[in-house]
Amino acid sequence: MKLEAIAAFADNYIWILHDGQNALVVDPGDAAPVLQFLAERSLQLSGILVTHHHADHVGGLKALQPVLQGPIYAPALETLPVPCTPCHGGQKVELLGMQFEVIDVPGHTAGHIAFYLASPPDDAGPLLFCGDTLFSAGCGRVFEGTPAQMHHSLQRLAALPGATRVCCTHEYTLSNLRFARTVEPDNAELKRYQQWCEARRAQGLPTLPSTLQLELQINPFLRCEQAAVARAVTQASRAPADTAAAPSALCSTPTAKAADRAVEVFAQLRQWKNEFR
Ligand code: ZN
Ligand code: FE
Repeated sequence: MKLEAIAAFADNYIWILHDGQNALVVDPGDAAPVLQFLAERSLQLSGILVTHHHADHVGGLKALQPVLQGPIYAPALETLPVPCTPCHGGQKVELLGMQFEVIDVPGHTAGHIAFYLASPPDDAGPLLFCGDTLFSAGCGRVFEGTPAQMHHSLQRLAALPGATRVCCTHEYTLSNLRFARTVEPDNAELKRYQQWCEARRAQGLPTLPSTLQLELQINPFLRCEQAAVARAVTQASRAPADTAAAPSALCSTPTAKAADRAVEVFAQLRQWKNEFR
């Protein structure tokens, strides 16, 4: 089984798994690059996984339908442009003889799901297709859910095995790293990873897939419990010249539980990133 990333639009990846004959694709926002990839390798499209309803993830579904011989597994709670097989968290779905576990990850959209393959046939570590929930060194914007939901969703993904390959849908890594380095300037692993990513991009290569063990070391959105991240968020919320517009200071009452505090750090970190240029 081979895992490849088909580039689409400016910075999307449409992940494809194939065995030389049959293929499945994840989040085909555009049909043309998928059809070209399939034709060049004489692959049959046997299934599609969809993580959420945004156009850059589902825009190719209609045009792929005529060549598709298999199901489209998609979030049960979202409206999609074509009929799909609805999926809930906890459910298992099978494609090309592989069993994917569906994980509910609300936040970016209300019904966003991720697909987790614990034991892929290539034995190169579990696979996670997480759409716009987890990015390398970043995370998706919270459009439809709450920061608490998004934080919880990210924590669920972070609890998967460290060797898990993280297949995100966007090549946002370098711009995410600029922000991450601002949050944690003293994180040596972050600096090393940034240099590696810059070299990859200079060669026109993807920075993805990442791994969970790496993300746990460098992704500020998975590190809200770290003192350095909490400190940076507090300082950033005090720093702006226009203090009236600054986000509220962190809740620091002695009764605030560590988990609540992590959610608060997450919410302010996400807000800070939204405004970061
Ligand atoms: Zn999206
Ligand atoms: Fe997207």
